[in-house]
Amino acid sequence: MGRKAESFHVKVAVRVRPLLKHDKEQREVVSVSSDGGAPSVTVVDPDKAFPGKKQEIDYLRADYVRERAYEFDHVYGPGDDTGRVFREAVRPMVDVVLEGVNVTIFAYGQTGSGKTHTMLGHRGETGVMRLTLAEMFGKAKGACRFLVSFVELYNEEIRDLLLDAPIRAHVDHGGQGGLDLREDPVRGPCIAGVTEVAANEVDEVMSLLAAGNGRRTQESTRANSESSRSHAVLQIAIESSDKVPSRKREGQVVKVKRTSKLSMIDLAGSERAAETRNSGARLQEGARINRSLLALGNVINALRKANGGGPSYVNFRDSKLTRLLKDSLGGNCRTLMLAHVGPSSSSFEETVNTLKYAHR
Ligand code: ADP
Ligand code: MG
Repeated sequence: MGRKAESFHVKVAVRVRPLLKHDKEQREVVSVSSDGGAPSVTVVDPDKAFPGKKQEIDYLRADYVRERAYEFDHVYGPGDDTGRVFREAVRPMVDVVLEGVNVTIFAYGQTGSGKTHTMLGHRGETGVMRLTLAEMFGKAKGACRFLVSFVELYNEEIRDLLLDAPIRAHVDHGGQGGLDLREDPVRGPCIAGVTEVAANEVDEVMSLLAAGNGRRTQESTRANSESSRSHAVLQIAIESSDKVPSRKREGQVVKVKRTSKLSMIDLAGSERAAETRNSGARLQEGARINRSLLALGNVINALRKANGGGPSYVNFRDSKLTRLLKDSLGGNCRTLMLAHVGPSSSSFEETVNTLKYAHR
C-alpha cells in the first residue's frame, strides 16, 4: 500500500565535525565552502592526496578523481557551532510546524560523526532539540498544548524511553515487548500505549530526554565502544485552537482544533554491518538498522521522484521507522536532513557514503 505524494519539501544540511583527539587518522580530507557559490562539501581521496612514497600518482589514468564536491542547502564546518545550525537550518521549521504542518528532522551519519552532539548537545554546547523546544514554547506563548513522546527503534521494535517519567499524560504500557504501531484515522500512525508527557517547560523536557537517552540500547562493537544501534525518535504533538470565520453564520467566529507533529530523530549509525566486522546477533542488528535506513532512503527518493513527475506511489511499509513517519514525510510536510561526517581520512569511505545518501 502506498500513498500518493503531492509535493515534497526536503532540505539537506551537512555538518563536518572538528578533528578530535581520538581520531586515529589526523589528516583532514573533508572541507566545506559556503561563501560565494552554492554551499558545498569537498572530499579528497586520501590515497590520492597522500600517496605513499613509492606510489606515483598517475594523473592521466581515466578513473583519476582526486576530489569530489557535493552541493547542499547548508554546510557547516568544524568552526561552526550548533547555534548556527539551529538558526539557519532548523529555526525556519519551527514556524512551519506552529502553522500546522508536520515537520521531520533527521540526524544522519556514521557512529561518532556528531549526531547526538547536534541533537541533544554535549559538553556545554546546547543541542538542537533544546533550542527548538525553547523557540517553540516561546513562540506559542501558552496558546498550544504540547505532548512529548520519546521512543527508540531497536531491531524493528519500539521501546518507550519515557517509561519512568514522573509526570505522564497517558500511561498504558503494552507489556514487556515492543510497543505496537497503529493507524489512527485522525492522528495518523500512533504508538499504542506510549508515554506522552504534556509539557511547556524546556528544562522539564530536557531532563526527560537526558534520562531517556540513558536508556537507549547501546552495544559495544569494534567500530566504536559506544555505538548507538538504535534510532531515537522525539515526537512533539502540537494542539492549538484557531478562531476562524464561521461558514454557517456570517460575522461569527468558531474555534477549530489544529494539530501538527514535530519529529526529531537521532538515527542509528549508518556504517555497514560488514564494516563493523560483527557476527551473529549483532550482524542481524546491523542488517535491520540498515534496512530501516535503506527504507528511509527509498521513501525519500520515491517522494523526490514523485515530486519531479515520476511514479507517485511511495512505500512506507518496509520498516517501522517509515511507517511511524508516514504522515510526516512527503505530502505537504517539511523534512530536514542533518547529515554528519567526520573530517579525517580514516572515515573517507563512510563520509562518501553519507554524502551520497544525503545527496540523493
Ligand atoms: P554520534 O551520535 O554520531 O555517534 P556523537 O555526537 O556522540 O556521535 O559525537 C562523537 C564525539 O565527537 C563526541 O565526543 C562529541 O562530543 C564529539 N563531537 C561531535 N561533533 C562535535 C562538534 N561539532 N564539536 C565538538 N565535538 C564534537
Ligand atoms: Mg549518538
